[in-house]
Amino acid sequence: MNEPCEHLRNLTETDFASLRAPFACEECLKEGTRWVALRQCKTCGHVGCCDSSPRKHATKHFHETKHPVMRSAMPGERWTWCYVHEVGGEFEPAHAPSKKELQHG
Ligand SMILES: [Zn+2]
Ligand SMILES: [Zn+2]
Ligand SMILES: [Zn+2]
Repeated sequence: MNEPCEHLRNLTETDFASLRAPFACEECLKEGTRWVALRQCKTCGHVGCCDSSPRKHATKHFHETKHPVMRSAMPGERWTWCYVHEVGGEFEPAHAPSKKELQHG
């Protein structure tokens, strides 16, 4: 039972808003707390800190906005998470070959 839900199916990097500058949790900057890792909201591009961080601003963002999907905002990471269904997935990089090119016949 680890199938991606409908929110996570067929996601590519271009489905996400580009990362906003500064590359930081804006709420942690305001509050003066430190984050561990960053997550980015797919719907609006909000950057918040992960659940390993003391303030968990990414999860807080979901509770406030009901935006269901976030991605890891860390360089090189391609995982994504749906808060509604509590399932994880992976998105395709922007320059990946299309599915058509991958299917040989
Ligand atoms: Zn979902
Ligand atoms: Zn934070
Ligand atoms: Zn959002």
